[in-house]
Amino acid sequence: METMKRNPEAVAAYIREADTIAVASHINPDGDTLGSATAMYLVLKALGKQVSLFCDGKIPDQLSFLPNSGLFRVPDGSEGPFDLMLAVDVSDEKRLGKCAELKAKSKKTAQIDHHPTNPLYMQVNSVDGGAPATCMMIREQMETLGVPLTKEIAVCLYTGISTDTGNFAFNCTNAEAFRMMGELMEHGLPLAELNRILFRVKPREQIKLLGRALEDLTFRGNGKIAVMKLTAEDFRACGALAEHADTVVNYGLDTVGTEMALLARETADGQVKFSLRAKEPCTVNDVAARFGGGGHPQASGITMDGALDECVEKVAAEMEKKITSL
Ligand code: 5GP
Ligand code: MN
Repeated sequence: METMKRNPEAVAAYIREADTIAVASHINPDGDTLGSATAMYLVLKALGKQVSLFCDGKIPDQLSFLPNSGLFRVPDGSEGPFDLMLAVDVSDEKRLGKCAELKAKSKKTAQIDHHPTNPLYMQVNSVDGGAPATCMMIREQMETLGVPLTKEIAVCLYTGISTDTGNFAFNCTNAEAFRMMGELMEHGLPLAELNRILFRVKPREQIKLLGRALEDLTFRGNGKIAVMKLTAEDFRACGALAEHADTVVNYGLDTVGTEMALLARETADGQVKFSLRAKEPCTVNDVAARFGGGGHPQASGITMDGALDECVEKVAAEMEKKITSL
């Protein structure tokens, strides 16, 4: 069985012998898969290749600044054949979505990825589960191909590395990430402008909804539990959708002294959806499991039937039990 390793030379050999190349990103595309694909587009063009970009999903408006982001297409059966299909940041074949069709239309297949669970589903697999972002592996791939860095490519690579490391805050952030950032800055990366687009600008609905949630922020368990609620009326008044509530719960957990936080919101179909968060070593997946929910130790969720206040009381009381038993 093939073992997981970086293999930029094997990928480069496939690229050199190909004229037509399909580059594919994953479904629900993020900054790393789109940054990797748009960087490879420019790299392959610099080598004189005919390149097509594919993604089975809408490109988020927030990432439309990526050079050539308008060129992504969903495969419709009319494309190809290709000499090579190259998947970037796609952890398994299912995440290709409709782009999986391109495999059968390509003479050779290859991938570059950084997910430790990757089952090595292409002919050539350059996969490193220890890399903070696929975009960092793209930088090495460029060196192997002898294509120099440009400002445009720096924009693509920064997008992947900054989003996959949580703006250089997650544990996966390493010294190599900062060395690469140094290089990107030397090539004219407009850091402040892109940082603002990627990490600060938010839809008006989201800001207004956050205001409503903060107004109602309360604490329990000696200040160790932050509780927030959003009613259907809050969503209506702000013109907000469920997705606009995504990061609200973090404000509870980021309050000094809290160890757990919950956000309860009324859903469009009349249920109550909880987002639970905890600071290590505290856990919330056990709390979620008691109400039929689940998730990760420090980030879990529950969907419940019932009135908002009654549901909140039940879940918050369960959290309080954990605090008093510590
Ligand atoms: P979030 O609070 O961001 O919606 O969800 C955090 C995590 O909790 C998700 O990654 C998912 O694993 C889990 N989760 C969220 N909602 C539910 C739910 O209704 N039921 C279950 N079983 N898990 C959930
Ligand atoms: Mn990634």
